[in-house]
Amino acid sequence: MKIETQCIHEGYYPENGAPRVMPIVQSTTYRFDSTEKIAQLFDMPTEYMYSRFANPTVDAVEKKIAALEGGVGAMATSSGQAASLVSILNLCSAGDSFVSASTIYGGTVNLFAVTLKKFGIECIFVQGDATEEEIEAAFKPNTKAVFGETIANPAVEIFDIEKFANVAHKMGVPLIVDNTFATPVLCRPIEWGADIVVHSTTKYMDGHALQVGGVIVDSGNFDYTNGKFPDFVEPDESYHGVSYTKTFGKMAYIIKARMQLMRDLGCYPAAHSAFLLNLGLETLHVRMQRYCENALTVAKFLQSNEKVLKISYPALPEDKDHALFEKYTPNGCSGVISFSIRGGRENAVRFMDALSLASIVVHVADIRTCVLHPASATHRQLTDEQLVAAGIDAGMIRLSVGLENVEDILDDLKKGFAAAE
Ligand SMILES: *Cc1c(COP(=O)(O)O)cnc(C)c1O
Repeated sequence: MKIETQCIHEGYYPENGAPRVMPIVQSTTYRFDSTEKIAQLFDMPTEYMYSRFANPTVDAVEKKIAALEGGVGAMATSSGQAASLVSILNLCSAGDSFVSASTIYGGTVNLFAVTLKKFGIECIFVQGDATEEEIEAAFKPNTKAVFGETIANPAVEIFDIEKFANVAHKMGVPLIVDNTFATPVLCRPIEWGADIVVHSTTKYMDGHALQVGGVIVDSGNFDYTNGKFPDFVEPDESYHGVSYTKTFGKMAYIIKARMQLMRDLGCYPAAHSAFLLNLGLETLHVRMQRYCENALTVAKFLQSNEKVLKISYPALPEDKDHALFEKYTPNGCSGVISFSIRGGRENAVRFMDALSLASIVVHVADIRTCVLHPASATHRQLTDEQLVAAGIDAGMIRLSVGLENVEDILDDLKKGFAAAE
């Protein structure tokens, strides 16, 4: 099936007389005929047992997203943050390290640099435009993974997936890619060498600002028996001595994530949330096309405005990442544009406060056009100098172009420019 068809049909195949739409299975538990049957499930969880780590409604959505990304399996999580956390914890323990591109979502930077550090896991940051030699030089003997973001939030820069995958594989570790902004409609990182894909499904996949969620997809391509990942090969004493690679083969990573980490951490989404996420996924392919069309029109308008100091939108031929755009996301680079307005912080605030259609929200990738001023919100704690180091200047605005008629969006932006000096 092509991706448009998969968005609608994958994950749920009703049998004769069954509901056409995957029902919301609102139950924490599942009933069995015998004690012996439950005992077997504790040996080998082949059926639903408890909704802290598996539920039929969530499972249908997991199967759909695995198909969209071209993976062998997926596990949903209660947020994008939980997906990033579990994707790393499944590979790294206290005393390990991993390498990450620095052009990633601010919340992920905090998770990696502050919270995982307290867990004894070190994140070594490298520039997104580092050479293969520079990335390799960042590795330590205890480095277990590499991480990057297809289209960085909020910098709107494109991650060179193949370059990072080459180094990761040479060094014997998997590459994890956060594909939130691109979605599998615009880019499928596994085709470029990513081993694991994570998402905040809160963004385009949901698309309607209804529920917070995340997902981890396993390509099934990485060989965890290469000597660096004994937790995958040796018997897991917390699971009656199972060896994930021996028992589950290509599914070792995603089954270990569920059987060890989801069992113990319990950051699993509710069935109702998965049902809503599925509604978003059904129209994902149509929406992504329209976001990209609207955003390109808006980006050209911004580029031609003399009050705009600089703009990041890699679909523009003048963008520094245009070559990466042509390679990885040739059909569009989402609805998110970041741009800086002349006159710094004061003018950015004047511009934003004069908008009426675009709403000021801590959100992005919605059907509704929305804006955020990182220097006053997500990056508020930084000084103007620190903002520059993070690639964010005080006048920068993150604009998430929605699905309204683009003429109405442009009219709204004109009001903003009229208010800015
Ligand atoms: C929002 C976001 C996250 C975090 O996801 P939540 O669902 O808010 O926890 C991670 N990565 C990217 C790229 C994001 O935009």
